[in-house]
Amino acid sequence: MHAISSDPKATAVAKAQASSALQNIYLTLLSNVVIAVSLAILLYLDDGKTLIFQWLGAVIAMALLRAWWVSRMVSAGLERRDPQRVLRHLTVAAFASGLLWSAIPLAFWAFSEKQNIDYIAFIMAGTTTGAIIQSLACSRIGLAFGAPVMIATLVRMVVSGSGTGYIIALDAIFLTFMLFRAAVIGERSFITSQVTAFDATDLANSLADANSEVLNSNRALETLARADPLTGLANRSHFRDAAQAACSSGRGVAFVLCDIDSFKTINDTRGHDAGDRVIEAVANLLRAVCHADDLPVRLGGDEFIVLLQGDGVTERSLALAGRFTAALKAPLTIAGNALTMTCSIGIAAHEGGPIDVEDLFARADAALYHAKADGRACTRIFDARMHDQLALQRCIDLDLPQALAQGGLHVEFQPQVAMATGEAIGFETLLRWRHPKAGMIPPPDIVRAAIRLKLSDQLLSFIGERACALLRAVDHTNAAPVNVAINVSPRELSIHSPASILKDLADRYGVDPRRIEIEITEEALFDPKQCARELQRIDQFGFGLAIDDFGVGHTSITNLMTMELDTIKIDRSFVHGITANRQNQQLIAAIAAVARPLGHRIIAEGVETEDEAQALRMLGCSYGQGWLFGRPMVENEAVAWLTRSARPAVKSAG
Ligand code: GH3
Ligand code: MG
Repeated sequence: MHAISSDPKATAVAKAQASSALQNIYLTLLSNVVIAVSLAILLYLDDGKTLIFQWLGAVIAMALLRAWWVSRMVSAGLERRDPQRVLRHLTVAAFASGLLWSAIPLAFWAFSEKQNIDYIAFIMAGTTTGAIIQSLACSRIGLAFGAPVMIATLVRMVVSGSGTGYIIALDAIFLTFMLFRAAVIGERSFITSQVTAFDATDLANSLADANSEVLNSNRALETLARADPLTGLANRSHFRDAAQAACSSGRGVAFVLCDIDSFKTINDTRGHDAGDRVIEAVANLLRAVCHADDLPVRLGGDEFIVLLQGDGVTERSLALAGRFTAALKAPLTIAGNALTMTCSIGIAAHEGGPIDVEDLFARADAALYHAKADGRACTRIFDARMHDQLALQRCIDLDLPQALAQGGLHVEFQPQVAMATGEAIGFETLLRWRHPKAGMIPPPDIVRAAIRLKLSDQLLSFIGERACALLRAVDHTNAAPVNVAINVSPRELSIHSPASILKDLADRYGVDPRRIEIEITEEALFDPKQCARELQRIDQFGFGLAIDDFGVGHTSITNLMTMELDTIKIDRSFVHGITANRQNQQLIAAIAAVARPLGHRIIAEGVETEDEAQALRMLGCSYGQGWLFGRPMVENEAVAWLTRSARPAVKSAG
């Protein structure tokens, strides 16, 4: 076996040479036989010797043998596998053929009585020329045939000793030299043209390779850019394009927005990796319940959306939500633990006609918000009631920045008193905004809008400044010093540091931070990791800490024992009608029993009657806030109220 040249260019050239030589070979053999036949006939006609036919037989046999050999090499595809071997075989065969032809000039007397072989020499030279011209791609084949014939002819001419013989010999030498030169140049130019073609093909191939590499990497980048790496679902950017197309198509379109409930707890209690596995598992369930035309998407975090299109999208969305909720009932196995997750789902469906993507998304978001607010693990579909709320939300979002910048908001202060004496201990700061069209906006809506608009730090600064201003105003009266309480939404704790903002303000106004109490709701305590740093700052800066609306958020009473609290505010829903409600009485008594020994102050919210105040006092709740003691007031009214309230507020109100 011959090794194929490791140089691809040399191999390609050899292949081209072999294939060109094979292409020409049958014609060469045929012309060889034709010339041999005519030579034999000529000689036979001259003097009738038949030995020439035996030579002719040998030439034909040799030609047939070569043709058979070539056909075998071709059918075996040898010129592609080992072109050098083909060229070697062809050269050897041509040489053998050349030797056979050399018999004519060397043993001419055996074939003919004639002494003059000039015209025979001419035929020999012609045959050789033809053979060499036929093998320009690979000169050695032609030369292997031609060299013995030419040499034999020259020898014969010289030996003949005639003048014509010498002249023909000289011509033959010159002709041979020219032929050899032409053959070598011909081969060289064949090789050059093959190398050029190879280089061009190589260049074209490498360009094509590079092009397809670029295309492949573009495709990979495109897939990456359109898929979420964790779940393999479509990502937000893919969703944006698909939703845009769907919403402008005029066909039915629906968004099914899903958010895993209390997902942060998984991250906090089992680690981020387990959190990721939950996201993957939930994504797989969502993918499995989708139909072929639905597009499931991971928007980010624990939030997914499915885009549905076509007829009956409302029904199909509800059915999808049902299938997904049912699929979630089976526990997920995460790192060997069985976890049961729930999702809240908000649906916005539009049965036809163009619709704005943002509009439809805001509807799905509003529906999801309601699902969360209704206790989670449920599905809500956007309806007329939500529509009104969404319109209000838009109105708030639109006008809040201006209202905040141009004094459209104000703050009121509601007194907090010691119920036994009516003595004021402080004020709760309450945000107020009368919207020119929508009327009074509830404070939670203002706070949520500020968070959406990334204005919550400005809003808190505004409230904090008003609170500090009240404290400074109180200090200029002869009333006893009081505290102020400021509400902070749990979501603010993860966006910025309310304690730091209020500390800067307290420093600027020269207010002792101990006179400012920060009120957070129980909800904040569900995310202890987010909250811990901020609680630490509140403590470190010296602010008071109050738990607002206690009782509605299901924080266990024993939780209170572990916290550095100053105040517990009992939600008004437990206070209203306390005189007749045994259960609420027991609850407040239990809170007082736990909180008082720990030094926590208990303030009942929404106290409206003297009977309620009395009942609360008896249950161990010493402080109150409500209309019985004072309504929310603007700053100067609050200061005036305070200076007047040296007398017992309970009696005056009664
Ligand atoms: P809710 O019931 O109101 O939905 O509250 P939640 O605890 O599920 O929290 P929410 O949906 O508001 O926030 C999702 C959290 O998911 C916020 C972030 O800490 C976490 N999160 C975001 N991206 C990833 C992620 O790629 N992997 C993991 N493990 N957690 C993530
Ligand atoms: Mg969630």
